[in-house]
Amino acid sequence: MFIKDSVNEVKKRESALKFINDFISNNKKENSGFGNENIQLYDLTGLAGGFLANSEDLSLLETYVGPAVFENRLEPLAKEHLGGEKVLALNRTSSGLLASILALVSGGDHVVHFLAELPSHPSIPRSLKLINNTSYSEFDNIDKFCDEGICNNTSLIIVTGSTMDHKVLSEKDFEKIVHLRNEKEFATGKKIPILVDDASGARLRIAVYNQKRAIDYGANLAITSTDKLMQGPRGGLMAGDGDLINIVKSKAHQFGLEAQAPTIMAIVNALKVYNSKAILEGIEKKDNLAKLLSKNFDNFEKTPTGIMINENGLKAEINSKINKEIVSNSSNSDISDSDYCFLFSMILLKKEGIITIPSVSMPGVSNTIRFDLASKDALNLDLNTLNNKIIRAFDELLLLYGNNNEIKRILFDNFK
Ligand SMILES: *Cc1c(COP(=O)(O)O)cnc(C)c1O
Repeated sequence: MFIKDSVNEVKKRESALKFINDFISNNKKENSGFGNENIQLYDLTGLAGGFLANSEDLSLLETYVGPAVFENRLEPLAKEHLGGEKVLALNRTSSGLLASILALVSGGDHVVHFLAELPSHPSIPRSLKLINNTSYSEFDNIDKFCDEGICNNTSLIIVTGSTMDHKVLSEKDFEKIVHLRNEKEFATGKKIPILVDDASGARLRIAVYNQKRAIDYGANLAITSTDKLMQGPRGGLMAGDGDLINIVKSKAHQFGLEAQAPTIMAIVNALKVYNSKAILEGIEKKDNLAKLLSKNFDNFEKTPTGIMINENGLKAEINSKINKEIVSNSSNSDISDSDYCFLFSMILLKKEGIITIPSVSMPGVSNTIRFDLASKDALNLDLNTLNNKIIRAFDELLLLYGNNNEIKRILFDNFK
């Protein structure tokens, strides 16, 4: 296994970022940045974000003036987006989850997490590990959650609105969880807040599934990632009950987790221009791309706004295409199925200019290769071209099969 721990993951990320930087430096004339019409690098992660600002905004970015102005502008826009009584901007969604867990959970407590499909975002279990003597359970089966989810010492219920792979929570399940929580609160007289990790869900659930905002179902806190399916900076935006936001905010300030003025400014501008049109166009395109891909592949799946192939799918695809003699001749115990996901993502980047999450991601996140057609860069990429890029990248992967030295070089260094 080549990518087996956080250090290796950071190393492959550095290799990918170095490639992107070299690419941008070498193509300066055509590349005034992502989103430019002439780019040949396409960010299809769905996390491309953006940093919208005008010169008046920039002149206000001072340490105290900045937050004074932009927090005030943020409040009404964020309440409209997420609901709630009070809002808080954070460095990342992970920062907001950490601040909430530090604020609402103590030693001896139990925390339960429900999501449409495991695994959860790693920041949730990792944050909980920082508090001694807590217990944590996660469920993706609602009946099991109803039977075993909430215990007498449960102090926080976390619900993920849409997973890293865009598996979306059903409205029915969400309502059951809120109902169960209400019953437990009534029986014990103890408050059990519901925190919704709505990183992409705050837009996906609403634009695509016609659901309501998490707060409208009875959640007490909701947090979203401001670079997912909207043109914002990497950041976290939280809203909810005033008393809870107050204590989470105080924790955030103690540990430096709160967003600084430039991020708040860019979140404000992203919320101003947000509309669900790009997301809805992505849905239309994905059916066409799925059809094109099905001529060569069997294991790509549709996501709400694009297509994806996960670890098992990629393995099945490789096994069905690879020459069996090569398989038996190569000593392949060193390389894992997960490594092939990172490799495919890295070939897509370094050979085809397509950025997908596994090549550039932070440690611990999903290794699924997702092509998000609601991405801004997808507007400039014709579906036949994308189909061909995916075919060529997969052929390259087959060529590299068994050549572990070369695979290592592509994961951690650069192509010659
Ligand atoms: C992206 C994501 C996060 C983390 O967001 P960051 O901004 O990277 O911290 C947390 N939970 C889910 C479900 C996500 O998709």
